[in-house]
Amino acid sequence: MTSNFVDTFRHKGLRKKLVEIIKKKGISSKSVLEAMEALPRHFFFDSGFLEFAYEDKAFPIGEGQTISQPYTVAFQTELLDVKKGQKVLEVGTGSGYQAAILFHLGAKVYSIERQRVLFLKAKEMLPKIGCIVKVHFGDGYNGLPAFAPFDRILVTAGAPYIPEKLVEQLKPGGKMVIPVDENDYQIMTLITKNADNSIKVSTHGAFRFVPLLGDKSQ
Ligand code: SAM
Repeated sequence: MTSNFVDTFRHKGLRKKLVEIIKKKGISSKSVLEAMEALPRHFFFDSGFLEFAYEDKAFPIGEGQTISQPYTVAFQTELLDVKKGQKVLEVGTGSGYQAAILFHLGAKVYSIERQRVLFLKAKEMLPKIGCIVKVHFGDGYNGLPAFAPFDRILVTAGAPYIPEKLVEQLKPGGKMVIPVDENDYQIMTLITKNADNSIKVSTHGAFRFVPLLGDKSQ
């Protein structure tokens, strides 16, 4: 992540085009589209790879992980339906891009990452671009009980099942977006916790994610 954080007219133009593509694919939330147009995605790439930052594709970020495809980021964020001031937990910090989008939407963002190298990079980099995100090192299956409950939880890796601990850490009225399945594709799943703590589950199409991995010691 050594792009020196310069955002040129060319970058801005490429970003505008990318947002048009995402819009054509069906994303309509004004706030999500604005956040994606405002936030330079190339800041999250190493300087040798800047040309890839404005393609609508996932890209390797090291440690066998990826920064998600921009359309997927937009889709998950739109489904999450974040309101200003809400407390949001992201599982899978990766590059920090998704966390920064949530910050741009006015959320109080907590993010958790199990790969130490990625955790350290994101923790150091996000404040440099003015994004206040509480980045934690740990296993996202456990959530962050010390900071729960959350208005929103966003899981950015493919989970084999819906972790009970994350559901527990949702506020009544809260929402969680999580891609679920162990196969090649995951089903984008929206979990809504009702006021009486009952759960409503709806599904929103197939996506492809790197897996939500278990404890490192296993
Ligand atoms: N949100 C990221 C971004 O904006 O760059 C992309 C996330 S990447 C598709 C998935 C991330 O989840 C990886 O960084 C991976 O290390 C992390 N991950 C996988 N299993 C995890 C777990 N149990 N707890 C926390 N993070 C996990």
